[in-house]
Amino acid sequence: MKNVAIIAQTKEGQLNEATNQLLSFVSKFNPEKITLVVLGENHLSSVGSSVPVDVISLSDGLWADTSAVSSLANAVKGYTVFGIKSIQIDNILSLLASCLKVEVVSGVQHLGYSAGVFSIVKSIFSGKASLEISSSTASIFSLNRNFDFSDVSELPAKAVNSTSVLTYSSESKSAITALKPITGTIPLPDAALVVSAGRGLKDPSNWTIVEDLANALGAATACSKPVSDLNWRPHHEHVGQTGVKVSPNLYIACGISGAIQHLAGVNGSRIIVVINNDPEAPFFKHADYGIVGDVNDILPRLTKKLQSH
Ligand SMILES: Cc1cc2nc3c(=O)[nH]c(=O)nc-3n(C[C@H](O)[C@H](O)[C@H](O)COP(=O)(O)OP(=O)(O)OC[C@H]3O[C@@H](n4cnc5c(N)ncnc54)[C@H](O)[C@@H]3O)c2cc1C
Repeated sequence: MKNVAIIAQTKEGQLNEATNQLLSFVSKFNPEKITLVVLGENHLSSVGSSVPVDVISLSDGLWADTSAVSSLANAVKGYTVFGIKSIQIDNILSLLASCLKVEVVSGVQHLGYSAGVFSIVKSIFSGKASLEISSSTASIFSLNRNFDFSDVSELPAKAVNSTSVLTYSSESKSAITALKPITGTIPLPDAALVVSAGRGLKDPSNWTIVEDLANALGAATACSKPVSDLNWRPHHEHVGQTGVKVSPNLYIACGISGAIQHLAGVNGSRIIVVINNDPEAPFFKHADYGIVGDVNDILPRLTKKLQSH
């Protein structure tokens, strides 16, 4: 692996945590050079890496613009390209693969590399099964949000080698006219901890116990589909086959039965805790830990315990 490109995401102009971890992870493979392809705001002057890092800046609209992706494809031709799964990054990676006519692997859970061969574990069927793949030809990888970076340690900061802006002449007549981030909450797709609740809460006024637990943990809140259909919670919190797919380290499901359509959105979670007063609730079969009990009793007790630490 001589040259590596990372499709990097930033927060306030600096690499977000997942991209930082990815940068340290790929440094393990001893590439000669790493190119960070930065989406959005870029104030990078130094990054944690053991090898020289070049930075290419892109505009936010890139994912919708095929002429920009062809220009990016020229810049990273022959590179091994990595990104952390998001709708935007998966779009870019698949368009890049198509431009460059190379193999792309998405949903990557574990990745090893030795003597020119990648050993890949990829999650399939909404996380219900995994595929083990050996490949010497795949060169574009989309890593799951809960990819295991546990053995990766942060590298000392190094000044970036060069910074350039990707230029392209666009034929697109589409333009992003406004970007309105949802404020005041932790974005669900990025959340490492999620407290989610279903119809078992009975009434939207009961959500304070869910929010209290989420606040005590520093978690995002989510819900099942009927809950958002009933307008008890906003639609952007609806998790499942037809909603947001989450892959946190911890997913706490409160008063959710565990229908297959809900599970399709949460199977990528590392640890699932289920709280339900029905011991036969299907969700228990998919839980790492289960509490049989009433949410009105269990949630305040959990919150109190967490607040006392
Ligand atoms: C095409 C299609 C797509 C769908 N997509 C989605 C999707 O993306 N996401 C999704 O979530 N659903 C989806 N659904 C709906 C899905 O099939 C279920 O109907 C839904 O997930 C059930 O939501 P729930 O678990 O909140 O409610 P329920 O099934 O009503 O379950 C409520 C649970 O709360 C428990 N409970 C009740 N009171 C308490 C209490 N006091 N304490 C503790 N537990 C309690 C009950 O035992 C029960 O298990 C889809 C359905 C279809 C047909």
